Amino acid sequence: MMRKIDHIGIAVKNLEEALKLYTEVLGLEIEGTEVVEDQKVKVAFLPVGDSEIELLESTDPEGPIARYIEKRGEGIQHLALRVDDIEQALEEVKKKGIKLIDEKPRYGAGNARIAFLHPKSTNGVLIELTERKK
Ligand code: ZN
Repeated sequence: MMRKIDHIGIAVKNLEEALKLYTEVLGLEIEGTEVVEDQKVKVAFLPVGDSEIELLESTDPEGPIARYIEKRGEGIQHLALRVDDIEQALEEVKKKGIKLIDEKPRYGAGNARIAFLHPKSTNGVLIELTERKK
């Protein structure tokens, strides 16, 4: 059901600054950047092998990423697992007692359909399920 690590989401204060590390120092290439209004974030994707790094900068001081950084500082914010069928995956984990943040899939950067599981059910890790037509 879970295919691979789709991406790892990293909360950063300043996307432009953070990109310097990932491109100039680590030598990765930017696949694309996008603003997702719904989640109040600007994101950049950097492929690494078969997975990607997703850098997230808040576009709003009240947004979830801004609040995350306020509480815990910059760093790894979520782990995204690729699934074939997100509705089915959500139903399965729900049946197994996992608390969901998103009962229904919503739009995710890069034209994905995503849903978050509640970290209270997942040992403190914010897990995103990602369905991607690729
Ligand atoms: Zn993500």
